[in-house]
Amino acid sequence: MTSAQDSAPPAIQITGLNKWYGLLQVLHDVNLTVTQGERLVICGPSGSGKSTLIRTVNALEGFQSGEIKVAGLRLTREPAVVEEIRRRVGMVFQQFNLFPHLTVLENCALPLRLVRGLSAAEARDRTMHYLSKVRIPEQAAKYPAQLSGGQQQRVAIARAVAMQPEVMLFDEPTSALDPEMVKEVLDVMVALADEGMTMAVVTHEMGFARQVADRVIFMDAGRIVEQGPPTTFFTAPRSDRTKAFLRQVL
Ligand code: ADP
Ligand code: MG
Repeated sequence: MTSAQDSAPPAIQITGLNKWYGLLQVLHDVNLTVTQGERLVICGPSGSGKSTLIRTVNALEGFQSGEIKVAGLRLTREPAVVEEIRRRVGMVFQQFNLFPHLTVLENCALPLRLVRGLSAAEARDRTMHYLSKVRIPEQAAKYPAQLSGGQQQRVAIARAVAMQPEVMLFDEPTSALDPEMVKEVLDVMVALADEGMTMAVVTHEMGFARQVADRVIFMDAGRIVEQGPPTTFFTAPRSDRTKAFLRQVL
């Protein structure tokens, strides 16, 4: 590793994060550092705070105390800061969130034009490059409703990655898909990981975790209960809650 990489700030640094919805505390003193190039998988039972945690990172949710930094920039409520954080953090959701009235090409090109200030030609070229990477360049002129769920999710991934973020967050990207489409989306994510993208992925796809994760995190009731490399996480989980969870998903 070069000294430049050694001194680069972590992609994400979360310190002492607490969040409540009304009286319900959903994140309890969460500390998490994601280094540049790291592939993190976050798992845990429904309602454990996984979505809330990653949504706080790009300011889709606020929080009451603690600190979040993305590539060294501390997240505040200042609009210019929120905007910059969102430029650095790409996000893919369970529901693909494509604009139904725009073609695949337009879905990807629009944020490139509006947020990145690319010309129409540049936005089209970059979109086609990333649609090729997710293996659906031939779908560019179609509307989302004309695509399968797996194809729509690959468009959503291309759209986010085309913005060239510092880190990609995925919130259960395959949970809404028919089983036969899960693999085509995971394959695209594996390719992204192989290219060195920093990724934090909320998923119950433990095969994916074993294949690409540098570290697996288990959350329960708003806390990080256990974490480790997949080898030890899956073969020698320490907490009873992790063991019970793994019995259900493996
Ligand atoms: P997970 O993604 O692990 O299933 P979530 O982060 O979605 O968990 O939810 C964590 C907790 O916060 C749950 O108890 C959930 O009911 C609650 N919660 C999530 N979103 C909201 C909201 N907008 N308002 C109130 N409570 C919420
Ligand atoms: Mg969730």
